[in-house]
Amino acid sequence: MNERYSRQILFPGIGKEGQDKISRKHVLIIGAGALGSGNAEILTRAGVGKITIVDRDYVEASNLQRQQLYTEEDVAEKLPKAAAAEKRLKAINSDVDIRAIIGDATPEMLEELVPDVDVMMDATDNFETRMAMNDVAQKHNIPWIYGACVGSFGMSFSIIPGKTPCLNCLLRTIPLQGMTCDTGGVISPTVQMVISHQTAEALKMLVEDWDAVRTSFVSFDLWRNQYTSMKMSKAKFAGCLSCGEERTYPYLDRENMTKTTVLCGRDTVQIRPANTGEISLEQLAAQLSSLGYNVKGNPYLLSVEMGEERMVIFQDGRALIHGTKDLTHAKTIYQRIMG
Ligand SMILES: [Zn+2]
Repeated sequence: MNERYSRQILFPGIGKEGQDKISRKHVLIIGAGALGSGNAEILTRAGVGKITIVDRDYVEASNLQRQQLYTEEDVAEKLPKAAAAEKRLKAINSDVDIRAIIGDATPEMLEELVPDVDVMMDATDNFETRMAMNDVAQKHNIPWIYGACVGSFGMSFSIIPGKTPCLNCLLRTIPLQGMTCDTGGVISPTVQMVISHQTAEALKMLVEDWDAVRTSFVSFDLWRNQYTSMKMSKAKFAGCLSCGEERTYPYLDRENMTKTTVLCGRDTVQIRPANTGEISLEQLAAQLSSLGYNVKGNPYLLSVEMGEERMVIFQDGRALIHGTKDLTHAKTIYQRIMG
């Protein structure tokens, strides 16, 4: 046991006491894509007591270039990322209590998950979920670590409620909304650099070395050889609706959550039905087969195809409509299939 973590214990910033702390902590990772798989792997190897990881997508061939937990076998089986990540993380370190959730990290879900969480990792690919994480973190006093990348450009920032500005404060000075992977692809080293910044911060927080936590906003461009560290102490905004004196947590309002979203970096629309209850995939498979659809599946999802139409339906009724970015068109396809 000690042998396993000996190099980390030898490191003065952690030591035996720090390792004991790490082994009692719970980290929540939102997203199991590129940033999520790297964050999860490093924290699992570091011996964090419990890791919960949430993701709404499944593994595809285009993920393998940078999403380090996944294999060709996961692609062939169309495994949900959360399920594939859980399997791999358990094989890496059986000491860690790994919990995987296949689903959308809605404000509701986040609020349910956070009460016993020590640190939250941002590994999402969308602005809406990040802002919900930001509000949940402020409301429940959970430190979290923002991370994002596109192309060769990445950034990271540590947010400690009551101490640092929050993400909503930062929006006043940094246009974070523009950071989506839609625009220019991404190279794996960018992902790894953001993961390094995020997990180093997480380790500091887990051993409670709060003075060591970085307070600046880091951004870099690995292709243009730039590295910037911006002081953010003045960015805290008293009127901020997420962390200010008269806060309302605007991003936890369910009305603000769109039900239909275009997914990052691909021609795919996600549709989340309003009344979520589990659906019988078996029954649906039989029904759709009889209508002439080509249906394949695993215990977590159904993959449905006919002509140009391709979609994946999860157990919670959520669907990914492929081959389109048009929300109305996607809804029409969804209604035709789901009735
Ligand atoms: Zn704020």
